[in-house]
Amino acid sequence: MYPELKLFIAGKWRTANRDIPVVNPATEGEIGRLPCASKQDLDDALEAAVRGFRVWSRTSPRERSDTILRAAALMRERQEQIAHAITMEHGKPLNQARLEVIRGAEFFEWDAGEAMRTYGRVIPAAPGHKFSVHHQPIGVVAAFSPWNFPMSQPARKIAGALASGCSIILKAAEETPAGAMHIAKAFEDAGLPAGVLNLVFGEPAEISGHLIPQDPVRLVAFTGSTAVGRHLTTLASEHMTSVLMELGGHAPVIVCEDTDVKAAGISSAVRKMRNAGQVCTSPTRFFAHENIFDDYATTFVERAAATIVGNGMDQNVEMGPLANDRRAPALTELVKDAREKGATVATGGAKHGDKGYFFQPTVLLNVPDNARIMQEEPFGPVAVINPVSSLDDAIGKANSVPYGLAGYAFTNRADYIDRLIDEVEVGNLSINTLEASMPETPFGGVKSSGYGREGGTEGLDNYMIVKNVWHSADIT
Ligand code: NAD
Repeated sequence: MYPELKLFIAGKWRTANRDIPVVNPATEGEIGRLPCASKQDLDDALEAAVRGFRVWSRTSPRERSDTILRAAALMRERQEQIAHAITMEHGKPLNQARLEVIRGAEFFEWDAGEAMRTYGRVIPAAPGHKFSVHHQPIGVVAAFSPWNFPMSQPARKIAGALASGCSIILKAAEETPAGAMHIAKAFEDAGLPAGVLNLVFGEPAEISGHLIPQDPVRLVAFTGSTAVGRHLTTLASEHMTSVLMELGGHAPVIVCEDTDVKAAGISSAVRKMRNAGQVCTSPTRFFAHENIFDDYATTFVERAAATIVGNGMDQNVEMGPLANDRRAPALTELVKDAREKGATVATGGAKHGDKGYFFQPTVLLNVPDNARIMQEEPFGPVAVINPVSSLDDAIGKANSVPYGLAGYAFTNRADYIDRLIDEVEVGNLSINTLEASMPETPFGGVKSSGYGREGGTEGLDNYMIVKNVWHSADIT
């Protein structure tokens, strides 16, 4: 079920001189060898992308759209195969991997439609003059996708680039390469011209350091941590290269007094543990009104503690392992720090089992503001529940971190909803649901959570330049 891993450059699959193991995080067993691109491979990919851009940017939007839709249809057909590979390399439950494949296909389908709607405009001008505004593909894109969603993260970047008429070199995550490989295979089979999509793997800093300074690269698209995003933005700015940055989050959830406490508690616990909390929009800081705090926390803790943890291939499993061995020590440290500063560990708090990178579903109560977890994104199955005295108090706490990606609230009060919309500093606010985005909605952050939007009618903006044309009938 796990594919043989290769680089995809100039329309051809190739191996590399150096490779590193890909490991199943549920078993710690090796499942494949990842080829690491050499500088020559990267230069070949760049040259191919320049040629690919010439072809693809001059291909009609309808033809581009048709090709993307053909590839998306192949991804849907191959759902089982792709989902199994994702669960093997990432660890998430198979059903969640299946949904991810469909979500990835939906990103392509949405952007394929948008490819035909990159409208310009005509600006009124004096007789004999015409002003017109054109949206044109920006050029070669260097993109970097993370390991938390092996299929849908690469899909976002590839869809935006290809729908806009750009070519792309994607470095997918070294831990989870198969999702991106399946996408490249689908595009090869759908007849995408050679060089339009190039897929490489390897040492992240080496690849970004080599590609970003190159002249043909006109956009750096990255999803990952704020620290790495800041580094890549600095590198890009030295070359006046545009960036699209989808970075970390530390999502607040405001639980108001008027809500259905039981339903909110169960929804919160289930959504927190999705993808083992390794989601940039994962709800983490839960601020419950003091009058309902006890009931809400009790429901949440009971449901979180009941989460079935195990190998994602087993049918009933709700939460798999962490995707790599870096997160468990980081989470253990965050929990230890919170406990030492006075928090209660209501459930979990440690590694789960002795094989695989599993971590227990963890809930911390009454965490002091000076605990590290109140500022640092855990990126794992750890939730904080604290009481608040009012909506003012809750909004103040929600906005007290440098992040501003997703935010949530449970309430039906119209006056509260108005204030939440106006005052919570996030790019995506959801009320009475802990879902943050769909292909048709714009997704992205404010503050240290990044620049630009993916999806929605805004999704192609970063991949295009705006050109104004002034046409005068007479020489003036
Ligand atoms: P990390 O910061 O080392 O890496 C994050 C991602 O960036 C990885 O995919 C990695 O391959 C890539 N990366 C790292 N250095 C790079 C470089 N110099 N050039 C190009 N790409 C580079 O952290 P990690 O241990 O992999 O993940 C943990 C943190 O990353 C989390 O705390 C979370 O904030 C963030 N993260 C965010 C998302 C997201 O969806 N926004 C996804 C994955 C990880």
